Amino acid sequence: MNERSEGLRAELDKVGLECMLVTRIENVRYLTGFQGSNGAVLMTPDAALLMTDGRYREQANRQAPGWDVLIYSGSMVESIEKILPYGARCGFEVTCRYDSYRKLAKTLGESRLEPLDGTVEKLRVVKDAGEVRSIKAALGCALKGFAALLEKISPGMSERELAAELDYRMALAGADSPAFDTIVGSGPNSSQPHAPISDRRLEPQDLVMIDFGALKAGYRSDTTRTVCIRTFDKEQEKVHDTVASAVEAAMEKIAPGIEASAVDAAAREVVAVAGYGERFTHALGHGVGLETHESPTISSVSNDVLEPGMIFTIEPGIYIEGWGGVRIEEMVLITSDGFEILSESLPREIRLQP
Ligand code: ZN
Ligand code: ZN
Repeated sequence: MNERSEGLRAELDKVGLECMLVTRIENVRYLTGFQGSNGAVLMTPDAALLMTDGRYREQANRQAPGWDVLIYSGSMVESIEKILPYGARCGFEVTCRYDSYRKLAKTLGESRLEPLDGTVEKLRVVKDAGEVRSIKAALGCALKGFAALLEKISPGMSERELAAELDYRMALAGADSPAFDTIVGSGPNSSQPHAPISDRRLEPQDLVMIDFGALKAGYRSDTTRTVCIRTFDKEQEKVHDTVASAVEAAMEKIAPGIEASAVDAAAREVVAVAGYGERFTHALGHGVGLETHESPTISSVSNDVLEPGMIFTIEPGIYIEGWGGVRIEEMVLITSDGFEILSESLPREIRLQP
């Protein structure tokens, strides 16, 4: 038991529940510290259990000190039924698999199950000091790897080679793995915000969009730079400058207490005034932590309000089919009196061979 499980109990109080089953693995990780790939947390009025299988006995006891670890053999649902107080209602996460839900409903009875949406996720929105350190550590690996990559990029290299090189360099810098599949969109491929990796080879006048992150001890980073192999031509420069100005406009708006939608609007306005409004086809940003995409959402339809401890991306982009695209993605931490750009050491404009 810890502060986080107390936080979960407080959330359950609000909806009149005493029991909850947490199955989303990132939420299990958040509550307990356990980093295995299979586990669940069961809260009852007088117990908080970390449930996992025999493969993780040693790891669970080591990573989740203070938690009662229940190693189940056979069916987890049968163990749950034995532990839940007779007739008690139990919250479950709407993100659980449907076949898991059916097993629960069959054993416990559908009427005892209460769907809960975003209960633990709500607790995860504001990061504590330890989480901020973990995210900075992940980002540090990514940026170190990227700096090493820049020494290697040259015309003739393929997108696939570039991504493999970056993943390798991030690993050498201490990353456990990439936080997500590294995105490399070169030349016209960069018009796709999430370009699938290809064997296309870099050409001298290419823009190369590189979206990368590192995973370290469960926490992730997420940043993008659009690199120019030689020097920008006029339109490339205009598009890049517009995106950079949109980042600046967002930064001018960011402060605790500000609505996320207002930050999105500030960046979007800059892109629209430059004539590329229709080409900025996604939200401005998203929270990053145990998952690459989590709350808050920085978009025109978001109801989130910025709070100290939130970590999220600011990533405006302009995408022109047949021509290419530019995205710049920064990571920001809201502080009590402003914000910190966690990815500040990474230059926004990178020309490799002037
Ligand atoms: Zn990204
Ligand atoms: Zn992102």
